[in-house]
Amino acid sequence: MFLNQYDVIVVGAGHAGCEAAAAAANMGCSTLLVTMNLQNIAQMSCNPAMGGIAKGQIVREIDALGGYSGIVSDKTAIQFKMLNKSKGPAMWSPRVQSDRMRFSDEWRTMLENTPNLDFYQEMVAGILAENGKIVGVKTSLGVEIKAKSVVLTNGTFLNGLIHIGDKQFGGGRAGESASFGITEDLVKLGFESGRMKTGTPPRVDGRSLDFSKMTEQPGDDVPEKFSYSNLTAPLKTQRSCWMSYTSLEVHDILREGFDRSPMFNGRIKSLGPRYCPSIEDKINRFADKERHQLFVEPEGWTTCEYYINGFSTSLPEDVQFKALRSVAGFENVKFFRPGYAIEYDYFPPTQLQHTLETKLVEGLYFAGQINGTTGYEEAASQGLMAGINAALKVQNREPFILKRDEAYIGVLIDDLITKGTEEPYRMFTSRAEYRTLLRQDNADFRLTPKAFEIGLAKEERLIRMEQKFSQSDAMVNFFRETSLKPEEANPILEAKGSAPMSQPDKMFKVFSRPQLDLEDFRKFKKVAAYIEEHDLDQEVVEQAEIQVKYSGYIEKEKNNADKLTRLEDMVIPDNFNFDKIQSISIEAKQKLNKIRPRTIAQASRISGVSPSDISVLLIYMGR
Ligand code: FAD
Repeated sequence: MFLNQYDVIVVGAGHAGCEAAAAAANMGCSTLLVTMNLQNIAQMSCNPAMGGIAKGQIVREIDALGGYSGIVSDKTAIQFKMLNKSKGPAMWSPRVQSDRMRFSDEWRTMLENTPNLDFYQEMVAGILAENGKIVGVKTSLGVEIKAKSVVLTNGTFLNGLIHIGDKQFGGGRAGESASFGITEDLVKLGFESGRMKTGTPPRVDGRSLDFSKMTEQPGDDVPEKFSYSNLTAPLKTQRSCWMSYTSLEVHDILREGFDRSPMFNGRIKSLGPRYCPSIEDKINRFADKERHQLFVEPEGWTTCEYYINGFSTSLPEDVQFKALRSVAGFENVKFFRPGYAIEYDYFPPTQLQHTLETKLVEGLYFAGQINGTTGYEEAASQGLMAGINAALKVQNREPFILKRDEAYIGVLIDDLITKGTEEPYRMFTSRAEYRTLLRQDNADFRLTPKAFEIGLAKEERLIRMEQKFSQSDAMVNFFRETSLKPEEANPILEAKGSAPMSQPDKMFKVFSRPQLDLEDFRKFKKVAAYIEEHDLDQEVVEQAEIQVKYSGYIEKEKNNADKLTRLEDMVIPDNFNFDKIQSISIEAKQKLNKIRPRTIAQASRISGVSPSDISVLLIYMGR
């Protein structure tokens, strides 16, 4: 059936579980992926899309580390967009519209081609732990499987309860059963659990829509891709999305169902994602808004199924249907599936260490929605980190932790384990204090060498990254050393409203003028000739341009990050007794005891721990 003893067992083949299994197996561990339904590997439970603001940066980081999400996303994309291109490069965020079925299929193919990885379809119903250490899992049929490390990635399935209007029934996702037993076992072991909620919109039949009444949303003219590797290529053709709006009439119809809404009649008690509210929540909270935007997104290359982004709802099906029929272009709409909400168990992530190993049970890791996050990208990145650390633990090697100035993934995990989360946590660029450093264009520079060192990223990746680095570095030097004459520069400068030059000046200096955009650099003949002569990729050129244009900001953030590193390096001993400190607040003592921060910097980020508490802590540590 399978081995008697694995190095790593991963429970759940969602986005977190798939990355965890791939990472552990690729790092040489015998790994078993147990999941309730092998047909639904890496299922996109909600929107058929990967990336987006801050999430796109995470996918690039996963790819740079040697994870699979970027490759799968590229291979199954139907549309590519670089969001926020009009802003600075720290905000650029890649996003693809995905073919939902192919996404799942491609993940399965990649996993089946991963050495050291076994599969088993079953529901894990219990955790086996002895003396505070994990020893394996037990399935619903009573089979015990032993492992040195276990990664739990149960997503929305733990005691999942689906709501549609006044109907409610058990389920982990529409059409799939909920998972029972794990929460109860963990609570017995001393874990604290909570409930959260999320929702999804109806899916409709594209043949029943009138697209002439909607606005077309095509992909980028020159699409890029997620993966830094040469395993994928940008799209040659793309499918468009469409945009329509709700109206006051639609809102009135939706309100007719409020008395049967589980959101408003108290049946749903848990908190949902603040930044992904249901349509009923939007019209209730923003009653003065006359319309809300809806994005009509194709679910794949060949299917006629469409996803109605912006219309997430758990109102009764008849109300969803009637309201949608009043939206322009939807007059004859037919449903494939109604929208619904789901409540599920999660475990407050303050119970975890930076490695995502639980503080209570050695060798047990949690990743993904089980930690109170929302989103495929957030889940996948945690899965990758948990898989890496589970493998390193089995191999008796040092843990792999990313700092806040190294990756969005570092920010995500540090936020979760230090601050916890009361509502589904999603990533935003504003959560990262060093976002000029954590750009989507340089995740390979930041992370591939680290991933190569631990044995995850392959040598080809490192070589590609080093080549990009040396080529872009050479181009920056070219900008530093080469001068522009006034007659070469002034026509372009004047066209951009920038003061003309009266004497030659170095390109580096000229290009840092605020009026010049990155695209303008290539209008200078010397730059165009350099690119042609060295046969440079767009990625290399863009990298060099960003280094020049934003050098001031980048330097400033590096200095700030270096200052913080000093606090990050001040490690608080494991057995440090916070109770012995007289002069800090009771709240600070309680929080410090609960979180047990690893460093002074982490302690300073705990809400309820003030700067004066930190000063006292430093004195006690002899600083
Ligand atoms: P999941 O993708 O849920 O995967 C969990 C996997 O574990 C599944 O394969 C399941 O079969 C398996 N499993 C569970 N329990 C067991 C067990 N005991 N034994 C074996 N296998 C098990 N995200 C957003 O960003 N925005 C949204 O608006 C949004 N809306 C959502 C709406 C709904 C209705 C749902 C269900 C999800 C929504 N999501 C949304 C969340 C998104 O789907 C998740 O964040 C993401 O899929 C989490 O990934 P995961 O790997 O943690 O878990």
